Amino acid sequence: MDAKPKRFQGNSPLARLLLVVAALNLAVGLLVGVAIWSAMRHAHEDAAQESRNLTILVERYFTEMFDKTDFALRTLSHELVGHGVPGVVDSERLDAFFAGYVNLMSDIDRFGITNAAGRVIYANTPDASLTDVSEREFFTSRITTASDALYASSARTGVAENALYLSRRVANPDGTFAGVVFARLPLGSVSAFLSRLDIGDHGGISFRDLNMALLARHPDPGDKFRGNRTISRELREFLDRGDPRGTYFSGTTWDGTARTVSFARLGTYPFYVNVGLAEEDYLEGWRQNSLQLVALYLGFIALTLIFALLAHWVWRARAHEQAEAVHELERRVAESTASLREYSEALERSNAQLRHLAISDPLTGLANRRHFIESANGEIERALRHAKPLTLLMMDIDRFKSINDTWGHAVGDVAIQKVAEACQEAVRVIDTVARLGGEEFALLLPETDLVAGAMVAERLRIAIAAIRIPTGTEIVAFTASIGVAELTHAEPTLKRLLKRADDALYLAKQLGRDRCEIAAP
Ligand code: GH3
Ligand code: MG
Ligand code: MG
Repeated sequence: MDAKPKRFQGNSPLARLLLVVAALNLAVGLLVGVAIWSAMRHAHEDAAQESRNLTILVERYFTEMFDKTDFALRTLSHELVGHGVPGVVDSERLDAFFAGYVNLMSDIDRFGITNAAGRVIYANTPDASLTDVSEREFFTSRITTASDALYASSARTGVAENALYLSRRVANPDGTFAGVVFARLPLGSVSAFLSRLDIGDHGGISFRDLNMALLARHPDPGDKFRGNRTISRELREFLDRGDPRGTYFSGTTWDGTARTVSFARLGTYPFYVNVGLAEEDYLEGWRQNSLQLVALYLGFIALTLIFALLAHWVWRARAHEQAEAVHELERRVAESTASLREYSEALERSNAQLRHLAISDPLTGLANRRHFIESANGEIERALRHAKPLTLLMMDIDRFKSINDTWGHAVGDVAIQKVAEACQEAVRVIDTVARLGGEEFALLLPETDLVAGAMVAERLRIAIAAIRIPTGTEIVAFTASIGVAELTHAEPTLKRLLKRADDALYLAKQLGRDRCEIAAP
């Protein structure tokens, strides 16, 4: 009874249910993982696109500015060549021109013209420190070259001046060097522009020259970084291939922040812009979403587990109920079986009683006449078959009527019972004692011959004579007469045996009672 539910538990649906739940959670977990991963991919792609857009914005801004600046420098150049005489320019006309122009070109803080010796012969805004540029690169590099294209100098870095210069060679009609026209772009303006771009809290945007020297950066890393040429390995690979633009992810930037970076050369101008968007910025939203998703997923796992445990609990409760119902049923069956057994035992007992009643005499418990006849026939058959002697005693209480008359019927009954007891004591187990009716008894003694039977009869007669029944006033005693007959081969029937014993009994009565008489064989 105990083994069953235990076996069920080991092999239980809980294990199977948990397996299903685990599989479900795994599948959902995979989906969550894929969703998170793809969201991250998208965040990276968006960052790449955004950084590209920002480089395009910067590129447009500066190429446009340089184009306009070039236009202004051409105007200056015409002025220088037009006069043909160094040191003579129409300052008033130029001032008027720049007065309107500078508003459009707010980043360029100065335009100027030098003569062939490097002396500034015109500047739209006065600057005492900028009167002789003969040592400056934007001037010296223009002396020998034949090109009249726009030249952009490396940044001139220093305490007093952080600026880069755009210059153009001016030639005399005969091609000889007449001087340069130049425009000055303070790096502060570049920084100011870069700082207007939204690159997040940890992004970086830098402005470099062709040699990758850092000219300006937002956020500003300070003067000591200016001119720094350290660039990432990834950018170096792009530049080595000669790519004018590109996007890459750099996990190891100089400040240890992982960034998605786009770079672009600013048109044909010798500058590069680098826009790096920090992973920690652009993944912030993704990170929060992912955390929420993971939290939801954990909640889902918890829910499915709770569901599984509840389902198991319900299942077990139901199984328990069923087991109890079975138990109850078994108990009832056992009960009914027990009462059925009791009932059948009682029936058996009453049957036995009935059987006993049918074959016995109620007053003495001895066999009755019918039963005596049945067993006597059997004994006769056996005696004849085995050639064994069989002797019958017929006994009748003497003058019993007077006992009844004198002492009452009840005393007569007691006398009958006492005689029955005496009969049973006088014989063996194999012998049959019966009350044939009234105060008449028969005793059938198998394997007993006439002599032995006579001895039994005599012993019985004596025993009966010794019976004493005390009544209230006196003691009752009585006697009995016995007839003895042995079965003979000549007359081997019960009927004849009874007749002969009866005759002997009658003889005993005749001869005075209280005696035994033997039938002649
Ligand atoms: P005897 O046999 O010596 O010739 O005289 P008796 O008085 O015994 O004569 P008999 O055998 O004819 O009498 C039998 C009497 O026994 C008749 C009847 O009233 C009485 N009797 C028969 N059955 C019972 C019984 O079950 N109980 C009692 N108390 N008396 C019985
Ligand atoms: Mg009689
Ligand atoms: Mg009698």
